[in-house]
Amino acid sequence: MDINKLVRKNIAELHPYSCARDEFKGEASVYLDANENPWNSPYNRYPDPLQWELKEGISRLKGVAAGNIFLGNGSDEPIDLLYRAFCEPGTDNVVAIEPTYGMYKVCAGINNVEYRTVGLNDRFDIDADALLKVCDANTKLIWLCSPNNPTGNSLDAQQIHRLIQQFSGIVVLDEAYIDFSEHESFAAYLQRYTNLVILQTFSKAWGSAAIRLGMAFADTAIIQVLNKIKYPYNINILTQKQALKLLEQEKSVSNWIDVLLKQRSWLRDALSELSYVKQIYPSDANFILIKVDDANALYHFLVGRGIIVRNRNTVSLCLGCIRITVGSPEENKILIDTMKIFG
Ligand SMILES: *Cc1c(COP(=O)(O)O)cnc(C)c1O
Repeated sequence: MDINKLVRKNIAELHPYSCARDEFKGEASVYLDANENPWNSPYNRYPDPLQWELKEGISRLKGVAAGNIFLGNGSDEPIDLLYRAFCEPGTDNVVAIEPTYGMYKVCAGINNVEYRTVGLNDRFDIDADALLKVCDANTKLIWLCSPNNPTGNSLDAQQIHRLIQQFSGIVVLDEAYIDFSEHESFAAYLQRYTNLVILQTFSKAWGSAAIRLGMAFADTAIIQVLNKIKYPYNINILTQKQALKLLEQEKSVSNWIDVLLKQRSWLRDALSELSYVKQIYPSDANFILIKVDDANALYHFLVGRGIIVRNRNTVSLCLGCIRITVGSPEENKILIDTMKIFG
């Protein structure tokens, strides 16, 4: 892959904003370079624009070099930046699986980039050839999500490998739910594949949706393009500090995951005893997709009792489907007790 051929011309030629913290790096005793207020420490100082301390922590945890990590305001930021870096509005296109996470399509719309979809098969899986068939010379990105939202399953690893190998653009693999899966992350293949971008997030297993911290792992050439076009201080100091604290509590996080995985199988068993639940799809994530007789009726019944699930009835291939997040043992019990009344 030749990154210079993929990146938009205006981005390749762009001289990025150079902030005070870019020009001087290191320790000093008097900082008079950034028009900051000398009081109200530590919030008076601009944060590290490239978040190196946090990236080093994430690097140790994930086994990905800090230089191969981009941090964003949620995964939403790298999703949007990938369009802005590689897709010429009105000309280029992307290819995505269907159904999947809604943000890929929304960001395509915002950036005026054609969004082509290929339906998953009856096992909610992909066929690399079918995806490649709808690609043309203007296809810059392929969007994959594994485990996939809202279906919950992991995509076939061999098909993912084939796609990355045969596609001449960038394959984005969203692993937001990888911590709940028995399958390995594709992060191990970053050295081999320079056209692979992996997305992970602090929003799910790490219990930190509110701090807005998403990660992209990729070849340094791609990371440098994203760094070039991001807002200079895109991760604020509160988020950086909170994330560093969380990295030290890795044990609590794996404990949460253990409990959620046990609860996922408890929920699966409990749901299978409800006669109106027609199908419980396999899940490698912290949610379960089920098919029921009347999804709208069940959804409104639960809302009326203060329980909110996600109605996916209108999503393609998900007719009659409800997506249920695995909650605490107490929450899951309330859900099942209430669902028994509906039956
Ligand atoms: C929840 C989710 C995310 C997380 O997005 P953030 O912006 O990091 O909160 C990303 N991708 C998928 C598929 C998700 O379901």
